[in-house]
Amino acid sequence: MNVGPWHGEFDVALAAVRDGALLARQIRRHTGETSFLKPDQSPVTIADFAVQALVAHWLSDAFPDDPIVAEEDAAALRAPTGQGTLESALAAVRRVVPDLDASRVLDLIDRGRAAPAERFWTLDPVDGTEGFVRGDQYVVALAMIVRQQVAIGVIGCPALHSIAPLNAGGEPPVPLIEQDANQIGWIACAVRGCGAWAASLHDQAFSPLHVSTCRDPRAARVLRSVEAAHIDLARFNAIVETLGVQTPPVLMDSQAKHAVIAGGGADLLIRVPATKAFRDKIWDQAAGLLIIEEAGGRVTDLNGVPLDFGAGRLLTGNEGVIASNGVLHDAVVDATRSATMKQ
Ligand code: AMP
Ligand code: MG
Repeated sequence: MNVGPWHGEFDVALAAVRDGALLARQIRRHTGETSFLKPDQSPVTIADFAVQALVAHWLSDAFPDDPIVAEEDAAALRAPTGQGTLESALAAVRRVVPDLDASRVLDLIDRGRAAPAERFWTLDPVDGTEGFVRGDQYVVALAMIVRQQVAIGVIGCPALHSIAPLNAGGEPPVPLIEQDANQIGWIACAVRGCGAWAASLHDQAFSPLHVSTCRDPRAARVLRSVEAAHIDLARFNAIVETLGVQTPPVLMDSQAKHAVIAGGGADLLIRVPATKAFRDKIWDQAAGLLIIEEAGGRVTDLNGVPLDFGAGRLLTGNEGVIASNGVLHDAVVDATRSATMKQ
């Protein structure tokens, strides 16, 4: 992988995400999948806190001045009722970095409260927490943003069996290594202008990622969220019907969807939020966007507008997401427009 001037940042991001993904998987296997509700009623687990602390530890070590904009903060763990959760998260992180103590872990988690700057990192320690709890897909997603553009994206997918699992549509699989049951998990990554790659979580054998070559919307393999609460299903169905898509969509949590699109295992990802006012968080799209773009695909919002990573912690200017192999993109934007007008 030739990653130009960012090789130092890229190596740290890869190591941090790999460690985080392996830790999340270990927590799911051994500590169970207990989740708690945050004030906004979204779920959070010990893994969310432990992985955020671990990734923040590696980033702080290597780039102490870089702000981190991340999903979690330590407020709930600093409260007396959060003592048990803090102890569990601390025990998990100390399996990887033994000399951390509780106060350092709280501070590391709270590094994620920083505001975006000219150069910063954005992290979702467990993207798809619902999938993590349900036993389905989830990822660790980390991106570096420089002057409002994603420069590096890394996604660790501990539960993904294949980067191209959806080959029923007839295209040959991406020739990546077969994995046995104990060795599942992928890491996908990209550097702007340099390419996108994936490797097993367990080795360093990276292969380039390329999107599919599907040209016919009717033959498109479409991905969408599992969680009914995250989508406007009627509008989603109207879009795929307008496109004439023949095969039912595949439901998958998290930016695992983005990795699969980048690997050519599906052709389209359509994210229609439940309400028109909903805005995605930057960490839910940044890493996935770059990996798809560098694999030859395109990512915009539902109106065909580029995602704007310069508006703070939210994609304030963007409604939903369309990610595609590039060839199909304009057809999906057109179908979204006409399906929306009919509603
Ligand atoms: P997915 O599995 O693709 O739906 O993506 C999971 C992400 O959706 C989580 O990390 C949340 O940040 C985000 N999310 C949470 N609530 C909503 C919502 N109401 N609508 C859309 N996305 C949401
Ligand atoms: Mg998320």
